[in-house]
Formats: sequence, C-alpha cells, structure tokens
Amino acid sequence: MPELPEVEIVRQSLHKKIKEKSIKKVIIRNRNLRFKIQSDFESFLEDKKIIKINRFSKYLIIHFEKENYCIIHLGMSGTIHILDNKKPLKFTNSSFYHSPLLPKKHNHAEFIFDNLKVIYNDPRRFGFFEIIKNHQDLEKRFKSMGPEPFSKKFNINYVLNYFKGKNKDIKSFLLDQRFVSGIGNIYASEILFACKINPFKKAKQLNKNECLKIILNSKKILRQAINRGGSSIRDFKDILGNQGTFQREFKVYQQDGDDCKRLKCKGIIKKKISSNRSTFFCNICQN
Ligand SMILES: [Zn+2]
Repeated sequence: MPELPEVEIVRQSLHKKIKEKSIKKVIIRNRNLRFKIQSDFESFLEDKKIIKINRFSKYLIIHFEKENYCIIHLGMSGTIHILDNKKPLKFTNSSFYHSPLLPKKHNHAEFIFDNLKVIYNDPRRFGFFEIIKNHQDLEKRFKSMGPEPFSKKFNINYVLNYFKGKNKDIKSFLLDQRFVSGIGNIYASEILFACKINPFKKAKQLNKNECLKIILNSKKILRQAINRGGSSIRDFKDILGNQGTFQREFKVYQQDGDDCKRLKCKGIIKKKISSNRSTFFCNICQN
C-alpha cells in the first residue's frame, strides 16, 4: 500500500500534468470500487477545470473551481497512468505498484483531457473516488483523522496527552490514522529505528524525550523519502519514469537477518509478525 511519501509523488506528478486543464470526458468501466462510484460522477466532473491537486495523508484531493472536489484513494493496488495523446506509445506510470503488464481490464476509470488522458487501474479494487461539493464537507471528511506528521498539531503536548494511560504499543499507534495520518508499515519501522525505540514498547511507557524523537524522526524520515522520490517497491515511478530510491536507504524494513546499520551496534535486524504485519527492528539498539 502506498504511504504518504508515494502519494505525495503521485500528487506532484498529477499537479504538474493536469492543473489548469479541464476534464473533457469521463469514462467509467467498473463502478464497483471500495465504494460504488455514484451515478452523477461523470456529469459532475465533465467540463470542470482543475485548479490544483492537494493531498491529505494518503488521499489525493483534486480542487476544481467553485469549491468542488474529487478525492482519490489508491487503496492497496490503485495506480494512475498518464498517457500523452501525441505520443500514444509513451506510457507514464505514476503510482506505487506498477507492472508494465498491468491488465487493461482493470482500467476502471479514464479521464480525458485535450492532450492527454489519466487512467485509474486497480486490480484489487480497494481504492475509491469521492466527490465533494463544498469546502465545509471537505473539512468534515478528514475531521476524524489525526494530524499529518508535518503538521504543527503533531507536537509534544498532543503526543504526550494521546499516550497517557495507553497500553497499545508504539508501532500500532504510528499506524493508527486517528493518531497520526499517512504513516504505514514501511515508514513506521524506519522511524522507530531512527529513534532507537522498541516497536513493542507500550505508548504509556514512553518518556518525553522519546516522544520528541518520534515527532522529529517522523517528519525527517518522510521528508527524506519524498526527496528520494518515495520507495520503489514493485517498480513505483514518478511522472518522468524515474524510480524512487528510498528503498536503498531502508535501515530495517525487509532487512531481517542483516547486521544493524548503526555504527558500532553489533545487533541483528529481526522480523516479528503480529496481526498479519511484519515489524522490523534491531535486537540491540532498539531493545
Ligand atoms: Zn542496532
């Protein structure tokens, strides 16, 4: 599943290509995504001009004129492809999971512009589209979600208060979108390694200094990942066809069995599976 940095790369690609353009036509081939695409979806989007593409957490938000919005969530396997009309063979993928052999039968939605088209492909159909018709509803949509790691709201008072009396482990909190938005399994492991905190430590047992480290490293690791074009797992690429390179900098994620990359640490990276998720950590510096 793409996490915040990969969705940010998709956002940048889309913003570059379709801002200030009008959607000429929308073709829906399969309405049955995670939420059924509503019947007025096509007529709502056609002839609308795009102002910009924003993002909140893992949600892409297309801003149209007059406070109209379309939210796109890529779910588990959603990919966005931009095809240039002038160079029909040039196929530019801009999503997390990508295969050049992606079956066309999963091209569920097409958005036609003057010079290009944007295709949404999603084999597992966990992604979705949602249209929103005013600014208040857009704010309401994300109200129950926690702040992004980059937000000023993700600060020491917020974290200390949130963790008070909480028995759940810190890794689970980093994945809990009500606490903080946009972090998934890859970056949660990397952030906790950077903090030298054991992923299974209970949140209520973290001291102020450890909470500060979590806040700072969440921002730092996600920022680095965005700067590296995200993590290319299964061939994620940006609009220019460049792969992300953050996967080369993974310190613990999928590094189990390797020596710890921290200087002078003699530890080994371990993998532990709980509730169907793998957690990676060093058995010495994160003990
Ligand atoms: Zn170590």
